[in-house]
Amino acid sequence: MSAKIIDGKAIAEKLRQQIAVDVAAFRERTGIVPHLVAVLVGDDPASAVYVRNKHSACEKNGLRSTLHKLPATTSQEELLAVVRQLNDDRDVHGILVQLPLPKHIRADVILDAVNPRKDVDCFHPINVGLLSQGRPWFLPCTPHGVQQLLIETGVPVAGAHVVVIGRSDIVGKPLALMLMQKGPGANATVTVCHSQTRNLVEIARSADILVAAIGQAEFVTPEMVKPGAVVIDVGINRVAGKLVGDVAFAGVSEIASAITPVPGGVGPMTITMLLKNTLTAAELATEGRRMKAEG
Ligand code: NAD
Repeated sequence: MSAKIIDGKAIAEKLRQQIAVDVAAFRERTGIVPHLVAVLVGDDPASAVYVRNKHSACEKNGLRSTLHKLPATTSQEELLAVVRQLNDDRDVHGILVQLPLPKHIRADVILDAVNPRKDVDCFHPINVGLLSQGRPWFLPCTPHGVQQLLIETGVPVAGAHVVVIGRSDIVGKPLALMLMQKGPGANATVTVCHSQTRNLVEIARSADILVAAIGQAEFVTPEMVKPGAVVIDVGINRVAGKLVGDVAFAGVSEIASAITPVPGGVGPMTITMLLKNTLTAAELATEGRRMKAEG
């Protein structure tokens, strides 16, 4: 079997066109341009690329984006002061603190300080709590991107056994929460595997939908995949200057029914969902849209 390639770039572009239409309608209604501020501390080259891509995606789709660049020597207190100032700025709708932060700064302290209504990454404990209760204000960008890929590709998720390998707060854990909820692209039976899981191969092989979010190049090999399964590769690993996913693409695509490539799979979807969250944040701030959590 040769798997269908799930073209994340094309799906992301289609969704971005709709978001651009929604942004234009919002601007028309309110005269306000949704504004995302990215805070980048230090000189991590990969982070600089991510932030640049997010900026250009905003600009292309009618949102405003500002980069707040700080030196690697910035103290935790100084960064907190920047976050608080952005929280208070009515012209700023979304705040994104690019991770990783320098080692002397505690990421949890900084992320907890972001106003939850401006938390477009959906990392704040309030947003994580609301997500787990199934009444989110925002959905976390990468898991939301994965879910949208499944929906747009017509993969039946309801009742399916989804195995997520990886339990990070950014990908694995929130994705599992989202896919087990009620609703479109959800209602799955979810198993989460991690570095201490026994019988990982056997569990992975029982998946109708297998998601790899591990951060180890080509970790998922063909014997871990049930014939006909859908495989979503979240991983981004740089090997000899090339981007490689967490799935051994060549072998696994002979067995799976559908698979995401790296690059061009989940990556473009993540940024797309960030655009959506920035529009949502602007709507919350300026139109007093009632949030689901407020009943
Ligand atoms: P992380 O390092 O925070 O978490 C990795 C997870 O993998 C951990 O929960 C760990 O338990 C699990 N793991 C590690 N070794 C394992 C093993 N041998 N067996 C089973 N599980 C194991 O990483 P993360 O932030 O979740 O990112 C995972 C990957 O996804 C990385 O490659 C990252 O670059 C990529 N990523 C991509 C996007 C995107 O937009 N495409 C977004 C976020 C992360």
